[in-house]
Order: sequence, then structure tokens, then C-alpha cells
Amino acid sequence: MSTERANNPRLACPHCGSFARIRKSESMTPIYRKAVLECQNADCGWRGTLALEITQTLSPSLNPNPAIQLPISPRVRKQLLAELAPETS
Ligand SMILES: [Zn+2]
Repeated sequence: MSTERANNPRLACPHCGSFARIRKSESMTPIYRKAVLECQNADCGWRGTLALEITQTLSPSLNPNPAIQLPISPRVRKQLLAELAPETS
């Protein structure tokens, strides 16, 4: 079970598995972010880029931004539709 804080994701270097730190990140759009990832193992030294993309809505916003069009996860969509139109038999 992971107890890591959501705003501080721990990322591993793909080569040596050591902790890799986000050096800088740049918001490209409200749902897409690019970052530079740097391995903290001095014996490795790998650096690379990382993309963070928000991909789905799991719980709709009560204050939605009309410019943001995210797909609703299929499971949640099914739940919402069931709540809106309960099956009558
Ligand atoms: Zn490494």
C-alpha cells in the first residue's frame, strides 16, 4: 500500500531504480504538464523528460471549467447514468 503524498509522487529512475526527482515542470495546458526528471544516484546520472497528463474524470467538478473536456471513466459514466435514469421494470 502506498502512503505517499499525492503532490509528491516518488518516481524511480528507469535505469537503476533509484529515486528520480522532478527538476522543473512546465504547464503546457491545464491538463498536460512536462517535466525534467533527474536520477539522484550519482553513479547513474540519468536525466529525461516526463509527461503528466490528466486523462479522465472520476468525480465531476461542482465548479466545472467549460474549456476542460475530459472523458468520464466508463465505470463512473455507468454509475452516473444509472443514478440519472434508474432502470424501471
Ligand atoms: Zn539512475
